[in-house]
Amino acid sequence: MLDGERVSPKIGKFRPSATLLLKAVAGERRAEGKPVFDFGLGETKGSLAPHVREAFLRAISTEQTMYGDPAGLPELRQAVLAWLGLERAGYGVENVIVTNGAKQSLFNVFLAVCNPADCVLFDAAPWVSYQPLASAAYAFPVMVVPRAGAGNRLKVTADDLRRNLDLRPHAKLFLLNNPVNPTGQLYDADETEALLAVCVERRVYFVLDRLYWRLLFDGRSFPEPRVDDQTRPWLIQVDGMSKNFRRAGGLRIGWSVAPSDVARAMANLQSHYTSGPSTPAQHASLAAISRPYQGGLREELESNRDLLARLGPKPPRVEIWPTPASFYSFWDVRGCFGLKAPDGVEMRSSDDVAAWLARSEGVITASGSAFEQEGYLRLSFAVPPEELLEGMEAARRAIAALG
Ligand code: PLP
Repeated sequence: MLDGERVSPKIGKFRPSATLLLKAVAGERRAEGKPVFDFGLGETKGSLAPHVREAFLRAISTEQTMYGDPAGLPELRQAVLAWLGLERAGYGVENVIVTNGAKQSLFNVFLAVCNPADCVLFDAAPWVSYQPLASAAYAFPVMVVPRAGAGNRLKVTADDLRRNLDLRPHAKLFLLNNPVNPTGQLYDADETEALLAVCVERRVYFVLDRLYWRLLFDGRSFPEPRVDDQTRPWLIQVDGMSKNFRRAGGLRIGWSVAPSDVARAMANLQSHYTSGPSTPAQHASLAAISRPYQGGLREELESNRDLLARLGPKPPRVEIWPTPASFYSFWDVRGCFGLKAPDGVEMRSSDDVAAWLARSEGVITASGSAFEQEGYLRLSFAVPPEELLEGMEAARRAIAALG
């Protein structure tokens, strides 16, 4: 074996996310007793709801720790249908697969439907793991570039999708993340329906990653995809526990709802590679989604979003996009390019601006380069309001110091 062949070239190309590098800067600042404002990680804070914690502990104390159904607990799969309003939509428990986080649902989709080199289309600012997961499944990831560019807040239209499908006869699926991580945008009902209709017409799967679907602001409701005999064979929905509940990302529970043949393939697949997710975590998730959804987290995030919008002086040369959903503020920082930091470093990329914010004021963000959108930063505002206020002032100081 040659040295360069010890790791598969495909996987060897993977890099840890850029936010990890900024974490190291944050660690150094903390060690020096300097303030750090962490807007980098996409995770809700606060406490796990007591009934969720108790369900987990009860599963342990009653020893529900043997292997379960590889596709997930039947009662959780039934509850998922109710949670998504799909009980009377022509689906049964066999259409629901419970996974180790939404991430594994996505990987299952790529593995179950793609042949090597099949093309998978993503929306214009794809979440960081879509491309590595698709590549690991030997599929070929392609980003749909909207003709309107950032003019439509990077949203893909039906025409954009059609154009890309014309160019890619081997396209197997279009993956839409709604609400969008990282831009915080929401495709409305008409936009969603138009994209779904193109997929049905072209016989490609419409994969909807709806992980943030409960976190919508200003009274909006989630634009549910149309489910009928025409769409059902092409519609795959991915969702999970990690974002709509507090402190639940580490439970590692997600799920997908898919046409029967695809769901069967995914269940068979995961019977070999995970044997299904952890049973106590599934019980905790069942407790969480079996109650009517409490809007406390959403209200808190909406109030943070409003706080951000009301802040006094904004960072100069930065355009902050409106945030109708999710907990991400998306900043256009291209106005900083060409400027120099007091330490002499010129701002040439989102990575440079993110690195300057981190080393000058301890403000940790996610650089647009991780989402294929050079020129932008993503800031998670799922933090306590005091930290948000102080951190925003620190970000303003850092940007104002560029000249
Ligand atoms: N999809 C999107 C858009 C995400 O933001 C994330 C996590 O950040 C995931 C999927 C993966 O979620 P999970 O932690 O449930 O695997």
